[in-house]
Amino acid sequence: MTIVEEIKCPHCGAPIKFNPGEILATCQYCGYTVVIQTGKPFVFEHSMLLNEYDEAAAEKLVKEWMASGFLKPGDLAKRSKIVEKELVYLPFWVVPVTAKTTYKGIFERLSPPIVKEGKIEKKYSWLVLARKASEFPTREYDVPLEGKIPYDFRRIERYAKVLNSEIDENEALNIAKQEIEAHHEFLAKQDVDRTIEIKTEFEFGDAVYLHAPIWFIAYEYKGERYKIFLDGSTGTVIKGDIPPTDFSIL
Ligand SMILES: [Zn+2]
Repeated sequence: MTIVEEIKCPHCGAPIKFNPGEILATCQYCGYTVVIQTGKPFVFEHSMLLNEYDEAAAEKLVKEWMASGFLKPGDLAKRSKIVEKELVYLPFWVVPVTAKTTYKGIFERLSPPIVKEGKIEKKYSWLVLARKASEFPTREYDVPLEGKIPYDFRRIERYAKVLNSEIDENEALNIAKQEIEAHHEFLAKQDVDRTIEIKTEFEFGDAVYLHAPIWFIAYEYKGERYKIFLDGSTGTVIKGDIPPTDFSIL
């Protein structure tokens, strides 16, 4: 059970509902985004991606996905039933960042082992989900940023749910840092077997707050329940659970 709280929209006076733990809230009547704790306007760019699929179209995409790919049961599209379809605008932070890593490590694949140094420099629009407890597969989501437009509450479908941010921009930058460090450590380990020293420097641009349309879909197949995340902007299945098949591949 969640306790919904309410503040008055500083822009249009309508009630803005929010849940405990949320940091930013967007008015569903005028699109104004407010920092809940201070009541001050949100100063960063607030963008959105448009949803291009209604319920029927989303269901059709799911059925097509079910009917394709040889790892799925052959009767999946026919025998499964979609039991939940919800369009959710998920909040993200898009963090533009240049990350420069220098590392020193030991290359052990040759004998004798040698000490090697290297550099990794990359530019990212790093995506951070602005919700704390979510099973959404952020790293598998290839966010179609080229389609982003300024947030426009009139483009949000009435039946859709818009989630508020639970993390602020500083937290988003910290998460981006940690994830990029881990990613660069992984890249460095393609080059050396053991890292002795590794250091990453970051240059951040202005973060963008983004709402992206995701269809949360659940289906049943032979009495079991499975989940699918569908990108409402491109129609791509971001991640979908596949029931185990009876046949062996060989
Ligand atoms: Zn308002």
